[in-house]
Amino acid sequence: MIDKIRADFPILQREVYGKPLIYLDNSATTQKPRVVVDAIVDEYYSVNANVHRGVHFLSQQATNLHEGARKTVQKFINAASTNEIVFTRGTTESINLLAFSFGEEFMKEGDEIIISTMEHHSNIVPWQLLAARKGIAIKVIPINDKGELLIDEYRKLFSERTKLVSVAHVSNVLGTINPVKEIIDIAHTNDVPVLIDGAQSVPHIPVDVQALDADFYAFSSHKIYGPTGIGVLYGKEKWLDAIPPYQGGGEMIQHVSFERTTFNELPFKFEAGTPDYIGTTGLAIALDYVSAIGLENIAAYEHELTRYATQRLKEIEGLRIYGEADNKSSVISFLVGDIHHFDLGTLLDRLGIAVRTGHHCAQPLMQRLGIEGTVRASLAMYNTKEEVDALVEGIKRVAKMF
Ligand code: PLP
Repeated sequence: MIDKIRADFPILQREVYGKPLIYLDNSATTQKPRVVVDAIVDEYYSVNANVHRGVHFLSQQATNLHEGARKTVQKFINAASTNEIVFTRGTTESINLLAFSFGEEFMKEGDEIIISTMEHHSNIVPWQLLAARKGIAIKVIPINDKGELLIDEYRKLFSERTKLVSVAHVSNVLGTINPVKEIIDIAHTNDVPVLIDGAQSVPHIPVDVQALDADFYAFSSHKIYGPTGIGVLYGKEKWLDAIPPYQGGGEMIQHVSFERTTFNELPFKFEAGTPDYIGTTGLAIALDYVSAIGLENIAAYEHELTRYATQRLKEIEGLRIYGEADNKSSVISFLVGDIHHFDLGTLLDRLGIAVRTGHHCAQPLMQRLGIEGTVRASLAMYNTKEEVDALVEGIKRVAKMF
């Protein structure tokens, strides 16, 4: 099975510095299977036309592909309707969209939003921009030393001024899988809606937005084997209906005059300009690819691989793992002795091993951990135990040099 999956990803056959590529930077972006790239090329070569406004054959075909992709996304996360699937450029844009539109409609000076210590900058800075514009306050859920959210502390953060909770489903540094169902239930008891940053969850665990009762859910195509530049904001229809557009332009209008403009229905109200209709096809093909393998199977495989990697990494003298939550995804952050993360990453690269080094766009979390950065190995369904062994041997080799 694994050989068949690996064969679908041409880049995994290449070498770097004359060594076989071992790609362990999947939290940053995943590689693309041939079916996804082929679908993109095919659409450019044989279907390309602008969507929604053309009466001609190609435009209708392109529109069908684009709207079919919306349906695929809807089914993938079990949204109630395609009206609830807004295409964006990615998680970052999804969160910015919500920070702007929700902030415009529902937040005023003195209101509060709750985020967590382990958020990616994408789920911090948009709220800070809103805070600067509207004078809102940002409250932060603390974590324990294993890298788990302190739920009792979270409960205490609510006040009458709390308007929104926005937290990551899975941490891109610690790998922690947060108890988002519980987080959402607690917020709802306080009558507060919740946005879940699903950038690191959708590629690795089955997500059902209705079962979670999430009000908003964001994710990026490129982290789930799809193309770059496309992503999704899921929002319950009642919320999307209630908030104003994010950007103005073509597609998002119903009627324009110089006196007054009326806006298009959902989800188009939030999709100003020509959409990335080729990107949406690529995303849909990627989701179909993942569905054919089965997210349960992917999750089980990655879980076992992560268990193996954690156990093997712990054999290395002086290696410290950051993030040891009971419920963890396939992300392992670590440091070895006093070797700088950048030096370790650079030397591993020379062995053909691609890992991430640095603060991983989570500087407040680094402050909480009392470090500047880590080395991060993030595993995907095409990684193998042999690659984990090579990582362990590589680290041992580098450690000997210091
Ligand atoms: N949120 C989390 C948890 C992430 O890991 C990332 C990317 O690494 C993002 C948000 C931002 O995603 P994108 O850069 O695709 O918008």
